[in-house]
Amino acid sequence: MRKSYLIFGSPKIEEEDIEGVVQTLRSGWIGTGPKVNEFEKEFAEYVGAKYAAAVSSCTAGLHLCVLALGIDKDSEVIVPTMTFAATANAVIHAGARPVFVDVDPLTMLIDPDDIRRKITKRTKAIIPVHFAGRPCNIDEINKIADEHNLYIIHDNAHAIESEYKGMRLGTSRDIAAYSFYVTKNLTTAEGGMVTTNNQEIAAKIKMYALHGLTKDAWKRFSDDGYKHYQIVYPGFKYNMTDIQASLGLSQFRKIEKFYSRRAELWQYYKNELKDLPLLLPPDPEPDTRHGFHLFILLLDINKTSLTRDQVINKLHNMKIGTGVHYIALHLHPYYQQAYGYGSGDFPNAEFISERTFSIPFSANLTDEDAKDVVGALKLILR
Ligand SMILES: *Cc1c(COP(=O)(O)O)cnc(C)c1O
Repeated sequence: MRKSYLIFGSPKIEEEDIEGVVQTLRSGWIGTGPKVNEFEKEFAEYVGAKYAAAVSSCTAGLHLCVLALGIDKDSEVIVPTMTFAATANAVIHAGARPVFVDVDPLTMLIDPDDIRRKITKRTKAIIPVHFAGRPCNIDEINKIADEHNLYIIHDNAHAIESEYKGMRLGTSRDIAAYSFYVTKNLTTAEGGMVTTNNQEIAAKIKMYALHGLTKDAWKRFSDDGYKHYQIVYPGFKYNMTDIQASLGLSQFRKIEKFYSRRAELWQYYKNELKDLPLLLPPDPEPDTRHGFHLFILLLDINKTSLTRDQVINKLHNMKIGTGVHYIALHLHPYYQQAYGYGSGDFPNAEFISERTFSIPFSANLTDEDAKDVVGALKLILR
């Protein structure tokens, strides 16, 4: 039995990360400033976008994406029901209506055929989620968007390192939002980034994220001397701080190293778990780079008498933390009450919801940790 609890999704924070944050704390400028600018530039380059705007979270970023594209009340936005609540909530915060779509039961990616079925005159955008880091069928989704004149907002919360046909996902169309929440591949504790190739949209996002102040208002207290600002929109307080950005910058230097470690763990889990009553994640699609954000298992409930929740509890008792990504949105009371969704509406997402659990899979895992996870699962499921 393990001595310490293996926390699900705990980040890998090392001396140089701590040093970076301490330097910013000592610099006298801890709010939005030069570190945020630097982080935006490096991030934009990595994901292949012309512009990046750092924000306080991916949720905030998605909200601003919807607003910046002019999507408002009376509009509908297509969202997979198998995602984190923030994807749909951002649409609701902008006053629009999320319209749910089913996913593939094994890849967990949004189903293009179901997108086509759910498009109406009011549909303005699609938000594909590159689930666990696995890129969606972007060519097919772009085609649908072209046919129906829709925007695409990529929810790239899992997909910083992902590639589709040799391209990162930062600009594959209109706009994308990323998350640096603690459990994500790169963390700033809380934080996010919006990327786009459209200068006008990028400027709007930055302005919306900081009260609706005119450009570069963050410099008003800098050593350039005081600058007056003007309010041009009733904006939000969605900016990132230099403290967060300095953590982001030092994490960023290790992003490919972290990635290689997760790729190694992926192979290890795939080999070790293949004889258990589990459905393992399928191999990455050809011509894509999987982001390896989550290692999600589906309990094969036809081959075991245990339920998913029993497995999770047994793992917990053996000091192994897990996650559930996710219970489909249409099974939650809010979306049922607000939009009339109900159990039975999206069979594939329900298949996943009933069976899914995620095991520890961050760069922070040691070989011993991974062995403990495998050993515990073998003990529970054999
Ligand atoms: C984590 C996550 C978000 C929200 O990110 P925050 O930075 O926590 O706001 C949105 N969508 C998906 C798919 C996520 O996993």
